Amino acid sequence: MKHIAVLGSTGSIGTQTLDVVRKHPEMMDVVALACGSRIDLIEKQAREFCPEIVAVYDEKAASDLAVRLADTNVKVLGGMDGLIEMCRIPTADVVVTAIVGMIGIRPTIAAIEAGKDIALANKETCVCAGHIILPLAAEKGVKILPVDSEHSAIFQALQGRAGSEIRRILLTASGGPFRGRTREELMNVTAAQALAHPTWSMGPKITVDSASMVNKGLEVIEAKWLFDVDVDQIEVVIQPQSIIHSAVEYEDGSILAQMGPSDMRIAIQYALTYPLHLPSPAVPLDFRTLAGLELGVPDNETFRGLPLAISAIRTGGSMPVVFNASNEWANAIFRRGDISFLQIYDVIEDTMSRHSVIAAPTVDEIFAVQDEIDAYCEEKYNS
Ligand code: NDP
Ligand code: MG
Repeated sequence: MKHIAVLGSTGSIGTQTLDVVRKHPEMMDVVALACGSRIDLIEKQAREFCPEIVAVYDEKAASDLAVRLADTNVKVLGGMDGLIEMCRIPTADVVVTAIVGMIGIRPTIAAIEAGKDIALANKETCVCAGHIILPLAAEKGVKILPVDSEHSAIFQALQGRAGSEIRRILLTASGGPFRGRTREELMNVTAAQALAHPTWSMGPKITVDSASMVNKGLEVIEAKWLFDVDVDQIEVVIQPQSIIHSAVEYEDGSILAQMGPSDMRIAIQYALTYPLHLPSPAVPLDFRTLAGLELGVPDNETFRGLPLAISAIRTGGSMPVVFNASNEWANAIFRRGDISFLQIYDVIEDTMSRHSVIAAPTVDEIFAVQDEIDAYCEEKYNS
């Protein structure tokens, strides 16, 4: 039996993780859940899965939940301390990091320190703190199993690697809802339009990141850390149908790709059942419904999320933190309707250009950089 803790159980990845657990009750159970504030849903999850611990970041919501769950044996915790304790729960074998944003850094580190394997969805943590979590995981002997569909695909294509060197990673991208549009055509796009993703159903932050191609930029940095490759070895390929989830090219020219339906539950499940491919809740792909699989190159002039990320990781040190933190701020403000879509790039470029790089930032330094960026952006772009 694999005992699972789900950090961010009420979101898109979190709820799909619970679907995977429902599919395999004989081999998995849930020992801990956590969310930000949505206690109606986490209460239902707690009653269904009977975890030992439920952590809610919002302290008031945590107190309300404790009252509601008073008739159960569930221990309810609040705040960052609660998330950290939840990730360290002695009975968990693996923590699924399905929380959104760099708020996931401290709980993820706590889980690794406690010897838990990580099923990593929370890419912002890898982007900002890859230099901390990957060496720590190696030191503690814990596995970092990718949940992001592209990284799961690469991980799967690497299974037959043996001693072979890889030439390139081909990281696919759907291109999002605005693929093919010009800069002029993006001037007045709204959050509602950005949130209408053509192939994936995901949480709001990553959906907007997909529209801006910032998501692909985060994924290039994530791939660099997870697979220990040079950024020049990663090539982004547009695959609008999201059927080819990514590929690895070996030195002899052979390319191994992983394909499948656009259903995150396959990647989530593989992270939990690795190295086994078991029956999953996903509907199998019907090739007769595919008119044709297209491949193309990204438009980096219009969608600057990708080149800005590559520039950030080439600079290294704290620059990926700046890329990520300024995007977290801009993404949230865009969704509130307070800045335009194209301003997301301006905010990222502006904050990156003024930053003095810290070589290998500590966790405290990472959050100090985020605080500085939030204060600067509020003042300059939102007052
Ligand atoms: P959602 O917005 O759907 O869910 C986010 C989850 O994080 C919710 O459970 C939310 O709780 C929780 N959360 C937010 N803030 C806090 C906090 N301060 N403390 C505790 N919990 C918090 O996001 P997604 O599921 O889409 O994405 C999660 C992560 O997975 C992201 O890093 C994303 O990039 C990555 N990812 C997602 C994919 C997808 O298909 N959705 C694909 C690949 C990667 P609450 O509901 O209470 O707010
Ligand atoms: Mg992805």
